[in-house]
Amino acid sequence: MLKVLKFGGTSVGTLDRIQNVANIIKKIKDEGHDVIAIVSAMSGETNKLLDYAGYYSKTPKLDEIDMLLSSGERVTSALLSIALNEMGYKAMSMSGRQAGIVTDNAHTKARIESIDTTEMKKSIKDGNIIIVAGFQGIAQDTLRVSTLGRGGSDLTAVAIAGAIEADVCEIYTDVDGIYTTDPRIEPKAKKLDKISYDEMLELASLGAKVLQNRSVEMAKKLNVNLVSRSSFTPEVEGTLITKEENIMEKPVVSGIALDKNQIRVGMYGVTDRPGIASAIFTALADANINVDMIVQTRGLDGTTDLDFTIPTTDFEICKKVMEQFKAQAKNIDYNESICKVSIVGVGMKSHTGVASKAFTAMANENINIRIISTSEIKISMIVDEKYAELAVRALHEAYHLDK
Ligand code: ASP
Ligand code: MG
Repeated sequence: MLKVLKFGGTSVGTLDRIQNVANIIKKIKDEGHDVIAIVSAMSGETNKLLDYAGYYSKTPKLDEIDMLLSSGERVTSALLSIALNEMGYKAMSMSGRQAGIVTDNAHTKARIESIDTTEMKKSIKDGNIIIVAGFQGIAQDTLRVSTLGRGGSDLTAVAIAGAIEADVCEIYTDVDGIYTTDPRIEPKAKKLDKISYDEMLELASLGAKVLQNRSVEMAKKLNVNLVSRSSFTPEVEGTLITKEENIMEKPVVSGIALDKNQIRVGMYGVTDRPGIASAIFTALADANINVDMIVQTRGLDGTTDLDFTIPTTDFEICKKVMEQFKAQAKNIDYNESICKVSIVGVGMKSHTGVASKAFTAMANENINIRIISTSEIKISMIVDEKYAELAVRALHEAYHLDK
């Protein structure tokens, strides 16, 4: 098999840990696989380099920043291949450019445009283990070094796996996979063997530390089988993130996600006429505010009530935007003490009674549900923040996720 492996900052955080990664790669190579490993900078390194730049300038040129930041990953790739060579393995380090990665010209947040895999293929044929510096490429017009945005090494790995048609892309961090819910909230949470791309995207809060959403989206697009696993317990199989068709037995519910960074905006007694919703949500979109759940109901007096949620980070701008709609409503209020709990599972599509079970679980705990929204594979509920953990545990139990 051709395996693409990616090692994050903590996995290569010290010289010892780089040696540990070399040992993991050795084992996989000994099993007869070809290996392309993508590495992050040692943890803390990228921030340190940014601080260095700040010593001289508050507004350094972006392509100079990229030149600087890309060096963190290069250090790790060189050290890892030195370690592997010393162990008697042929290893070759490559910068993003040498690996054939071409990006657009948006320095510090470049997008990968293409990957020419010729050099990597040749090098593998020669028996090399390839170690690629993650997070970087070369800008197509200026031919300057570019970087892909913070956390971008995952993208490098997924994009290479897609371009070279690797059998798998294993993302190594310090967490051994994706759990049914946050184990700090529910200690009975279980590691999932398999999960679909869409479920993973919906459960983003559970994978936040281990997988960047952008790379899950790219994996889905390029049909790359992703595995989330730990370099600290490499003997533990991780979680496979793959397309739905590859999951034979689809659980009705795969996991429970919690998002505490939500604020509910309520508009009451809104004049009922065409164009109001359009005006409000266009204004919010223009302000780059990410509206999540929207509920509109009809009041008795012919007006309507409108509720929606926004991320906590957008609170201040949202209040400003809403100012202009004051005249259109009897009252506008904000509730910061809410959270969103979601149950996610592809199996929902073909089962009935999934939602009622969630509502019953809330009722049994005397938790009031303020907003409900559903999609094909997700049911989300807004409840008071003080019930967040209780709600997660109750739902985990209701769907027997600990079994
Ligand atoms: N070193 C870069 C960062 O810290 C890229 C990465 O680790 O994925 O954002
Ligand atoms: Mg990282």
